[in-house]
Amino acid sequence: MITIDGSEGEGGGQVLRSSASLSLVTGQAFQITNIRGGREKPGMMRQHVTAIEAACAISDSTCEGLEVGTSEITFRPGTMKAGEYNFAVGSAGSANLVLQTILPPLLFAGGPSHITLEGGTHNMGAPPYDFIERAFLPLINRMGPSVSAKLVRHGFYPRGGGKMEIDIQPAPLRRIDCLDRGELRSVIGTAIFAGLPYDIAEREVKTAQNVLNWEEDAIAVRQLPEDQGPGNILLLEAEYDHVTEIVSGFGKFGIKAERLAKTAAMRMKGYMEGQAFAGPYLADQLLLPFALAGGGSFTCVKPSQHARTGADIIARFTGRTFAFDQQEDGHFLVSLR
Ligand code: ATP
Repeated sequence: MITIDGSEGEGGGQVLRSSASLSLVTGQAFQITNIRGGREKPGMMRQHVTAIEAACAISDSTCEGLEVGTSEITFRPGTMKAGEYNFAVGSAGSANLVLQTILPPLLFAGGPSHITLEGGTHNMGAPPYDFIERAFLPLINRMGPSVSAKLVRHGFYPRGGGKMEIDIQPAPLRRIDCLDRGELRSVIGTAIFAGLPYDIAEREVKTAQNVLNWEEDAIAVRQLPEDQGPGNILLLEAEYDHVTEIVSGFGKFGIKAERLAKTAAMRMKGYMEGQAFAGPYLADQLLLPFALAGGGSFTCVKPSQHARTGADIIARFTGRTFAFDQQEDGHFLVSLR
């Protein structure tokens, strides 16, 4: 039994989710204490419970102590079962983080799966749907499997109600090396909003354009039906030959449209001016699939605490460790030892 202290390192929900994914793939049971011990309100939230319930459902695993608010669970992995599944977070919690938990093990299941996920699709502190579809999954597909995603309905905090469908065709994961972005193909931005004044999105577009100076009309407003709101997100996307980076600005009551748009645009500008393959979020999300592929490397900006903690958890379950080597140009080369 592997024991994990959930307050170590980054101390957030990803420690728990990665442990469950790795437990299913490696067949090792784990006990985790101090779940989300590094957070202001520690313990499992609804979305974390759904992620672990989903992990159990796809594998006949058992989990002791699973409930909202708990700080300790014991997870015993069963046998993976590919198939049709429907998981609803039952709050505006991120459905994408449920996917983050069950996708790696389903890549190792004996056949294809079709997953319907309901809940939040565009949540602060989680990958928005678009990031999963156009930044993360293309790299998973390059490693061998075939995974496609469809957004049926947007879901924002606090109402939720979003829905997406994922088709997974497993294949052995092969190592890939992601050192070069290739040429820039296109840039596009969208200020998505629902049930809020139009001018919020318009101001986001204007502010982002002032920073990025992209071609006229490269950043547009998209209005969703009123009943999908209230919600707002600014998505800035740069597609290169070998990678797509998507930077998000999440609308939130009390945060000015100009402020969130400027922050997102500055981050995109910083990424585009650099050479690193992976942005900060993609970097922490690539570690687990790379470890399961048994090799691979990528370049990124300074690895986040999320990434370092993720690497520690991976080492506990697989014995595989990552090297984070700073390069002369300041970037880091992340490679499996
Ligand atoms: P907690 O509430 O404990 O912080 P959590 O369960 O919401 O935890 P984290 O441990 O913070 O989750 O992990 C969040 C995950 O979402 C990470 O994999 C991170 O890369 C990803 N993520 C967060 N924000 C973005 C974003 N803007 N774009 C893409 N991915 C993101």
